[in-house]
Amino acid sequence: MPALQQMTNYHTHSTYCDGKASPREMVDFAVAHGFTALGFSGHSPLPFENTYSITDYDGYCREVRALQKEYQDRIAISLGLEFDYVPGMLEDFSPLIEQGHLDYTIGSVHLIPVPGTTPRDGNDLWMIDGPHYERYDEGLNRLFGGDIRAGVRAYFHQQNAMLERNRPTILGHPDKIAMHNRSRYFKEDEPWYEELALETLALAHELDIIVEVNTRGIYKGRHPDYYPSRRLIKAMQQWRIPVIVSTDAHAPEDLLRTEGAYEYLAAIHYPEVLYTIR
Ligand SMILES: [Zn+2]
Ligand SMILES: [Zn+2]
Repeated sequence: MPALQQMTNYHTHSTYCDGKASPREMVDFAVAHGFTALGFSGHSPLPFENTYSITDYDGYCREVRALQKEYQDRIAISLGLEFDYVPGMLEDFSPLIEQGHLDYTIGSVHLIPVPGTTPRDGNDLWMIDGPHYERYDEGLNRLFGGDIRAGVRAYFHQQNAMLERNRPTILGHPDKIAMHNRSRYFKEDEPWYEELALETLALAHELDIIVEVNTRGIYKGRHPDYYPSRRLIKAMQQWRIPVIVSTDAHAPEDLLRTEGAYEYLAAIHYPEVLYTIR
């Protein structure tokens, strides 16, 4: 059990997107394990067929709001979305924020078009997430001609554009691009890579955006580090960027998988660790 004052999680999925459990099952598990706050952040609806984003947005908002009310004496539930920022496809978060009267937003990049092109559907997008690295390799080769630096640059620049345009409450897994790299195309200490990553984190600092410390790669056995990596977290200390630990839970038991993140942040004396969002 982590040594912490409060158990909270603001990066939570459910069966409304690609999670394994209903919102109520997630809440019941959280309450049973002493959580004081739980934020839902389903994958934002996207305008093309895919396996992971919300299709019934109104139903999602209605159900989380109903649970918020029903459980108000036991746990602070909030309604959010994990926005998928995609240039030419989903650039402006405000219509969905207004439609759902959202309490907060996570801004994430999973899908990358070639800069300057207008994507029509998933075929025009480099999918950098998901369980299989073969798909990452395929998209990199097909859309970026295998040029990893061009692909990585597009990823970080897309995040920068997202932060500037939408100022999400939380920046989601800012270096997830490294997951399926599996140390093959680049090493994370290469200066060109580190420069791009730090540019995004400096921008988060400038815009006063919380950065999550996402533990999912570790407990899914897909990546040996948090997103952002320990190396980047150490660099973030200079700006005192507020961080919040996220399990990116897709099933109830994921909520407990903080993977030593609180202990790590305490050990390096990280100055701004949040448990709840402002
Ligand atoms: Zn994500
Ligand atoms: Zn997520």
